[in-house]
Amino acid sequence: MGQSMGQNMGLTEYRGKRDFKVTSEPRGTKRSAPSARSHDLRFVIQEHHASHLHYDFRLELEGVLKSWAVPKGPPLKPGVKRLAVQVEDHPVSYGSFEGTIPEGEYGAGTVRIWDEGTWNSNSSSESSARNALKNGVLKFELHGRRLRGQWALVRMKRAKTDNAWLLIKEKDGEKST
Ligand code: MN
Repeated sequence: MGQSMGQNMGLTEYRGKRDFKVTSEPRGTKRSAPSARSHDLRFVIQEHHASHLHYDFRLELEGVLKSWAVPKGPPLKPGVKRLAVQVEDHPVSYGSFEGTIPEGEYGAGTVRIWDEGTWNSNSSSESSARNALKNGVLKFELHGRRLRGQWALVRMKRAKTDNAWLLIKEKDGEKST
């Protein structure tokens, strides 16, 4: 497997891209992953008005937020697929961030929380969810204000880079708004 962004890199890449004297984004800490999970895992979707509007989709896993930039936003109808480009892991505290990243900084523009809540994978533990991501297929359920029900992230096989994924809305009985 080639160099994959956001895998086993902790927050080094995240911090390397940002000047925390200038941006109000959190520097963050990597939370140590407890052997037995003591809290529900968070998800957040941030609407990011950068040079191109996109939606940052983040799933808490093993002490960081695994992150994808979704240009067209998350799909709401079963069977619809949206490109999701994996980016560097973000600190868990980034999930509360809203504000304006200053001009000239990485990702300059306004960030607003579009949806948030908890998620669970069909895997039984965080390490099996990590393996599912490593293998390129993660199926999961979102419990948000807007998004509820089943989604999947599937790595694109014939993409030029291995950070191209599809975010897919799966069939379920829920209705997202
Ligand atoms: Mn972004």
